[in-house]
Amino acid sequence: MFDKILIANRGEIALRVIRACREMGIASVAVHSTADADAMHVRMADESVCIGPPPSMSSYLSMPAIISACEITGAQAIHPGYGFLSENAQFVQMVEDHGLTFIGPRAEHIRIMGDKITAKETAAELGIPVVPGSEGGVDSVEDAREIAAEIGYPVIIKATAGGGGRGMKVAKDAAGLDVAFRTARAEAKAAFGNPDVYIEKYLQKPRHIEVQVFGDGQGKAVHLGERDCSLQRRHQKVLEEAPGPTITAEQRERIGRTCADAMAKLGYAGAGTIEFLFEDGAFYFIEMNTRLQVEHPVTEAVFDVDLVREQIRVAAGLPMELVQDDLTVRGHAIEVRINAEKLPNFTPCPGRVTQYHAPGGLGVRIDSAIYDGYTIPPYYDSLIGKLIVHGRDRPEALARLDRALGELIVDGVDTTVPLFRRLLRDPEIKAGTYSIHWLERWLAKNLT
Ligand code: ADP
Repeated sequence: MFDKILIANRGEIALRVIRACREMGIASVAVHSTADADAMHVRMADESVCIGPPPSMSSYLSMPAIISACEITGAQAIHPGYGFLSENAQFVQMVEDHGLTFIGPRAEHIRIMGDKITAKETAAELGIPVVPGSEGGVDSVEDAREIAAEIGYPVIIKATAGGGGRGMKVAKDAAGLDVAFRTARAEAKAAFGNPDVYIEKYLQKPRHIEVQVFGDGQGKAVHLGERDCSLQRRHQKVLEEAPGPTITAEQRERIGRTCADAMAKLGYAGAGTIEFLFEDGAFYFIEMNTRLQVEHPVTEAVFDVDLVREQIRVAAGLPMELVQDDLTVRGHAIEVRINAEKLPNFTPCPGRVTQYHAPGGLGVRIDSAIYDGYTIPPYYDSLIGKLIVHGRDRPEALARLDRALGELIVDGVDTTVPLFRRLLRDPEIKAGTYSIHWLERWLAKNLT
């Protein structure tokens, strides 16, 4: 086992990893930009190294600075968290070239899944059901028209290099295709430096269902059921839950097994998430994330596991502790993302937190890096915390969420808390029957 791990991240996820390290008796090293000198992850780690100025490009994304921090502190492994360098195959290579261990999958698997076309092809080869669409990229409007006519409108044009819900355009009919195709390519080029796009059938009322997988890198893999992340704004998740309110035990078992078998075949190492759109009882692969997800705590709650601990163990070459037959869903968990944002436009709202009080009690977990007097810097994303509740069933989890949100105090900055309190009053949330498009419509109706 490692003696010392460096966490190449900030905020709540850095804290999450530090906590796992401490419980495992492993020393932790935080890295930080000058803007984060007073951040909670810096205070909580055993050691810290300043790796550059505020912009991520010069700090949290600076590979040489992070490798140097390992060399200075003697850290043997790097946990990337999510975002930043977590899905950067070049970084993984560099880490290994320096004799260090990357806590995550092999560079090769990150590369395959990082390119959406290759990912889709690989998924299909591994027996995972995919969304009908173009085989590979599409580079002319004529080809786009032909494929769209074949699969039927509406279609969605997606950037191969896309991520974070960006680089997607929907065409309702043939008349709208030309413009959608051209803008998608132009935007992909501007945002990702790569104009390549592909086409998929646009599903009209799907749910977003993702399967948590975990592999030992030696050909063994398990699944930890699904999370439903259908509440989205601009393709970004707002609330996540496990198990999926519309997924039957039989569906869970079937898609879970398909995913675990695929990961075993691939020889995948560590935590991964296979994302699907789910419509009329069918699953359609959209992408795989080769890292820990923001919403991993809901899975931890219902399966009573520590995914970060497992990641560290597998990276250290120890056998995986997860055993498929022991993994059964217990109760229901819901997570809400607390962002420092001003409604109704979700404008980022950095600034000083003048008062902070975290909720507690049975079945409540807060993963947050803010504290009384903390100043949220303007340079990074607006997620300041996650509230996760666990109950015996979905109604209990919802009631607990409402109760916990009522106890939470974050003063000085605007947050998404009032949005959740209002959402929880909506009968559709209670019923849990919404598609991925429901929240946008609700926001348009209720917040303007
Ligand atoms: P990203 O990597 O940017 O998150 P994804 O491929 O995971 O991109 O898609 C993000 C979201 O976009 C999905 O959760 C869904 O809301 C929407 N989406 C993607 N593909 C389709 C599709 N074929 N039909 C309908 N919605 C889609």
